[in-house]
Amino acid sequence: MSDTSPTLALTLDLVARPSVTPEDAGCQALLAKRLAPLGFRAEWMNSGPVTNLWLRRGAASPLFVFAGHTDVVPPGPLEAWSSPPFSPRLQEGVLFARGAADMKGSIAAFVTACERFLDATPSPRGSIALLITSDEEGPSVEGTVHVVRELQARNEVIDLCIVGEPSSSRRLGDVVRVGRRGSLNASLRIHGVQGHVAYPQDALNPIHVFARVAAALEREVWDDGNEFFPPTSFQFSNVHAGTGADNVIPGHVEARFNFRFCTENTHASLEARVREMLDAEDVRYSLDWSLSGGPFLTRPGALVDAVSAAIERHAGVRPELNTGGGTSDGRFIAPTGAQVVELGPINATIHKVDEHVRTADLDVLSRIYEHVMCQLLTG
Ligand SMILES: [Zn+2]
Repeated sequence: MSDTSPTLALTLDLVARPSVTPEDAGCQALLAKRLAPLGFRAEWMNSGPVTNLWLRRGAASPLFVFAGHTDVVPPGPLEAWSSPPFSPRLQEGVLFARGAADMKGSIAAFVTACERFLDATPSPRGSIALLITSDEEGPSVEGTVHVVRELQARNEVIDLCIVGEPSSSRRLGDVVRVGRRGSLNASLRIHGVQGHVAYPQDALNPIHVFARVAAALEREVWDDGNEFFPPTSFQFSNVHAGTGADNVIPGHVEARFNFRFCTENTHASLEARVREMLDAEDVRYSLDWSLSGGPFLTRPGALVDAVSAAIERHAGVRPELNTGGGTSDGRFIAPTGAQVVELGPINATIHKVDEHVRTADLDVLSRIYEHVMCQLLTG
């Protein structure tokens, strides 16, 4: 293929490696070797079975980081694929392979963007790094979160970060993710007094108490959301009570519920309000909370402006800034105070059979990444 662009060529090299989580299959070594001549120093921060690579060029601030993962989700039944998932197939400008869109194409675009940018600007302002893990699709406990902890321990501060997750919806660059909602889980146990249904005066029915509390929680308006987030939502996921007998008032009710919350609340403010509502019932209860992750938001500023301008220029579309979608490693980087956005290819086929990406999109993505660096790291 004579017209294979450098971004496509590197993508082909990466997707041919079967790096199902937590495997890296040599992808990161390839990146380290490729970027070494440009002055990127490789540091391995492996943890357990997970391979993590921190590739940094320069020591000055601001530190601009491309973050991503070399692991992919399993392909599923091979016979369902039109061609083997780790034998990249090109057809009419489309690349089919596991990881093509999520997210080895983005990683290749990081690399070629750095190559062109540093060729044109050998002494940029600040420094550039790549944070690459092989544990994004899995438990995500020894990957980016581990690297971020190490960096924080030595006061290495990320200022600006693009996560290469496939954020685009219908066309490249139409959506940039600027944050995500928080998720808070709780287990509630309401303690009543067990008794005979014929003698309610000698019992305390926790189901009746629960019904009042549940109605109040369901009616409550926690906030109205804001420009970037929908209102905080509350949902019960599990409720259990009763002995199975028709003549027994049970001794307790157990329920679990979840908040998906926006930046108008914190986990602490939600916990306090729930306690207040329960305390109003004059009943004994126990409540255990577990926070999956806080909400984060990168407000319009240097990074969002640079990304939007680069997309408009190279993809000809004005991106929608949103906070939808599932989780990504952005949740580990944003709490350090960094500005973080997610920008990558179209996500229509990620995790699916016949995952694919348009090869032209990879080249445009690389141009966008390059243009972001031009705006933030020159002058
Ligand atoms: Zn991904």
